[in-house]
Amino acid sequence: MRVGQAMTRKSVHEIDEVLDKVLYVSRGLGRHCRRLIGGDMMDMSSPRYQCFQLKGIKCAECGIEGKFFAKEKSDDKHYSWHFNLYALDAKGREVLMTKDHIIPYKRGGENHLANFQTMCKPCNEKKYLTMPNADVADRIRWECGMDLRDYVEYYKSKKSLRD
Ligand SMILES: [Zn+2]
Repeated sequence: MRVGQAMTRKSVHEIDEVLDKVLYVSRGLGRHCRRLIGGDMMDMSSPRYQCFQLKGIKCAECGIEGKFFAKEKSDDKHYSWHFNLYALDAKGREVLMTKDHIIPYKRGGENHLANFQTMCKPCNEKKYLTMPNADVADRIRWECGMDLRDYVEYYKSKKSLRD
């Protein structure tokens, strides 16, 4: 199936089928990053999947929730299959879910899981270069000093205290 102008969709997958296979390892470990899902070896170490798995599948801004993953590939260049998360709006149209930099990348925000949150594409585009308040920004900068697996444990323990 063709999605928009530049994307081909191969299959649709339930949320847990994908999120249960997310790996918290640095990228670039070759086959050690890949898991077999729906007949393809998929790189499951993407920071985007890590964000959806750890931070959840709801938009931090408007609350719309991811409903399914689609295995898709860009038609240009030589992209391989990857999963995109989609929510459905009130009219049943698909809304792409993205990984937002809480401190915008262009304002010095790091590519670290601590600085990511799940956000739908329209909210992400609206937010653009907006900075979080100073307390949040300070906390995130501090958290970005942690190594990936330490941060995941830290986030989970913080979350279990809140729940
Ligand atoms: Zn949103």
